[in-house]
Amino acid sequence: MSILGRFLAAALVLMLTACGAGEPAPVVTASRTPVPEATVEATTESGRATPGARASGSLPPVVRHGPRDTEKVALTFDADMTDAMKARLSNGTVSSYANLRLLALLETRRIPATFFVTGQWAEQYPDVTRRIAGNPRFEIANHSYEHAAFTGDCYNLPRLAPGEMTGDVDKTFTTLHPYGGRQTRYFRFPGLCHDRAALRALAPLGVTVVDGDVVSGDPFARGAGPVIDAVLSQVKPGSIVIMHITEANARYTDDALPAILAGLRRRGLEPVTLSELLA
Ligand SMILES: [Zn+2]
Repeated sequence: MSILGRFLAAALVLMLTACGAGEPAPVVTASRTPVPEATVEATTESGRATPGARASGSLPPVVRHGPRDTEKVALTFDADMTDAMKARLSNGTVSSYANLRLLALLETRRIPATFFVTGQWAEQYPDVTRRIAGNPRFEIANHSYEHAAFTGDCYNLPRLAPGEMTGDVDKTFTTLHPYGGRQTRYFRFPGLCHDRAALRALAPLGVTVVDGDVVSGDPFARGAGPVIDAVLSQVKPGSIVIMHITEANARYTDDALPAILAGLRRRGLEPVTLSELLA
């Protein structure tokens, strides 16, 4: 397939995945239940929420967006780090997968944000992780340990064995926890790829799975314009916007951010953390 063809196919898959197409798992579209560290909102296989329950055999809730009757939106930033990315850092092909300009923009403009951090990214960038954890406006969530796939056919990511899924996500919590700050039990699957088996594997961990309803497409972007357009054309009250802080793999996210923030402001939409959006 041509590079363009691969891009279009990947973009289509991402859009379909983000829309939950082909995903039979229960979806909580507008959970109003806060998900602090200690309590769990279980969702039964019928899709009915069972507040406070942790029934065995139940699947974690999957959230695509928050309530639509608010003016709030959540900006989320994924910090991917695959083994292949680590190799490119060590052999010097890539200089950085941490977009410090993006982080500085969020800090100076005092924008609340939620970071989905992989264990390997935190290990690669402990100082940046500490900086994120140390900001009271930022929240830390789990994006797996090594950004491997939890299903087959997920962006050519190497696949985790079914028996490794629970341990991978648990190990990430263990890696992130010492950084402190606003830790959560939110989890986002690499590539948003999940199925019932993957959800079942995470049930013992008490996570809330967070997809998102606005895919910025920043890893594929050739400039800031498409990222701005993608976000502002899809965003609405209660949206969860998916972006990346991975610099070399998402070069224009920092360039796009000011126009995105201005566009949100024009519509009266206020960025908040995921916890606040879903509270
Ligand atoms: Zn990712």
